[in-house]
Amino acid sequence: MKTILVTGCAGFIGSNFVPYFLEKYPEYRLVNLDLLTYAGNLENLREVENDPRYTFVHGNICNRELVEYIFDAYDVRGVIHFAAESHVDNSIKNPGIFVETNVNGTFTLLDVAYKRWMEKPFVHKKGYETCRFHHISTDEVYGTLGEEGLFTEETPYAPNSPYSASKAGSDMVVRSYRHTYGMNTVITNCSNNYGPKQHDEKLIPTIIRNAIHGNPIPIYGDGKNIRDWLYVLDHCKGIDLAYHEGRAGETYNIGGRNERNNLYIANKICEILDDIYPVENNPSFRYESDERPSSYKELITFVEDRPGHDRRYAIDATKIENELGWRADENFETGIVKTIRWYLKKYEGKEV
Ligand code: NAD
Repeated sequence: MKTILVTGCAGFIGSNFVPYFLEKYPEYRLVNLDLLTYAGNLENLREVENDPRYTFVHGNICNRELVEYIFDAYDVRGVIHFAAESHVDNSIKNPGIFVETNVNGTFTLLDVAYKRWMEKPFVHKKGYETCRFHHISTDEVYGTLGEEGLFTEETPYAPNSPYSASKAGSDMVVRSYRHTYGMNTVITNCSNNYGPKQHDEKLIPTIIRNAIHGNPIPIYGDGKNIRDWLYVLDHCKGIDLAYHEGRAGETYNIGGRNERNNLYIANKICEILDDIYPVENNPSFRYESDERPSSYKELITFVEDRPGHDRRYAIDATKIENELGWRADENFETGIVKTIRWYLKKYEGKEV
């Protein structure tokens, strides 16, 4: 049985990826190294915790001794690296940990993988020829777009926040291990994900939670910032394809061609909630009916913009579509309904 080290899988994307991957590949064992920062939650992995092919290791990707121990103890033959500090707002307040985790942590994993899998540059140890290091990254490394254009794999890096700069730095370290040592690497740069198990601090859970609790729904600036939204399982399917079939040393952009601005998202979520969980059925709106809002939309409130807020991100996914046959199964309007239902269960205990 082949062991793959996955990092940061108590977080949002990794915890969607692990059950999907374990079910699809009965020949793999997954070892999940996660520090359980505020963003990691083992509740997200309840469904796999008793799976004999899944092992959790609590620890830091920057801890070289621990990473070496894991490679030796489990004879790791592949890495899929999700662990990161991932919230732009936090990177503005506290950038240092972003550089530490995202740059140094990626370096530590890569360098241990290089030493364990290769004799010297471009020469693999016998039996380790196919070991691959897959780095999960973001479209934010490309900076911001105007009204027109899309990010391709050729777009020059121009990261604007400490988060995206640290992810860009980690991508460059991965690139250098390909170029200098001939490591079998692949990088995927994905657009904004949404779906079950995302941390409460992120945009879509924040909108849903505030709406159903009857609180103001905060929208930065004029609400016109555009992101290219991808349902998390579609991202997981893209990672699966790139890990197994992507060409060594290549980068693949993953994005769903679903550009939506923040105000549209807030309005859409409110419309769906109005339909499936109307305010008059919601105990958070107990007050007199003439004071009660008629729609969740009345809770939308504009707040001071995030400093340096990138205006628009949008991905050209032609390469992964054409080379690997990837396609998003969900569009925003289908994926968001599943997502809202999941959060209604989480926040209200309601199946609707
Ligand atoms: P997340 O913040 O939900 O989860 C991050 C996980 O990493 C947590 O479980 C946390 O405990 C763990 N972690 C943090 N520091 C660690 C350390 N030093 N050692 C070990 N574990 C550590 O993040 P996410 O949204 O699941 O994102 C996963 C990856 O995907 C990140 O690399 C992120 O940059 C990338 N990505 C995210 C998105 C998105 O929309 N969420 C989009 C594109 C790319």
